[in-house]
Amino acid sequence: MKTVKIKDKEFELFLTQEEIEAAIDAVAEKMNAELADKDPLFVCVLNGSFIYASELMKRISIPSEISFVKMSSYKGTKSTGKLKEIYGLEEDIKGRTVVIVEDIVDTGYTMNLILDQLMDDEPKELLVTTLLLKPDVLKYSVHPDYVALEIPNDFIVGYGLDYDGYGRNLPNIYKLKQS
Ligand code: 5GP
Ligand code: MG
Repeated sequence: MKTVKIKDKEFELFLTQEEIEAAIDAVAEKMNAELADKDPLFVCVLNGSFIYASELMKRISIPSEISFVKMSSYKGTKSTGKLKEIYGLEEDIKGRTVVIVEDIVDTGYTMNLILDQLMDDEPKELLVTTLLLKPDVLKYSVHPDYVALEIPNDFIVGYGLDYDGYGRNLPNIYKLKQS
């Protein structure tokens, strides 16, 4: 499929499953080499990372654990505004090598919050892998350690990423068509 329509918007093919998975092969190989003796705990941030996490973990061949978290949004006080908090982590990460698995780092705001919150639990090391990075948009001092693909500042869907809840199941990545 060269284009897809989701709700009111048209998207065009941007990255094929083959291209994406070749990039995942490469980051997985790097992680297998660099994290071999570290007994890492992979912490996948749902919902967006579910396909990346699954494809990545099938290629991870070193001893490791995997766990899943979500970010909640709740209304804080008027002065703090809307806050996002990580929930669902049951493992004790104190003294461990933790690898956060994300679908996309855009401004870095979300990843910055996740890193801040997990640091409180005193991991030995906090690493980040993301399927996609938009380097031109990055505002926070977040430096993902393992990036599968760098992309320009387009809105994309598929391979876990949604438009208004839809499109996560698309096996390729599509970008919003400029009209
Ligand atoms: P950040 O906090 O880094 O600005 O944005 C991270 C979150 O925004 C991601 O976890 C994702 O939910 C959403 N996001 C950012 N860029 C895109 C995009 O191009 N497509 C989709 N579907 N979501 C995006
Ligand atoms: Mg995400």
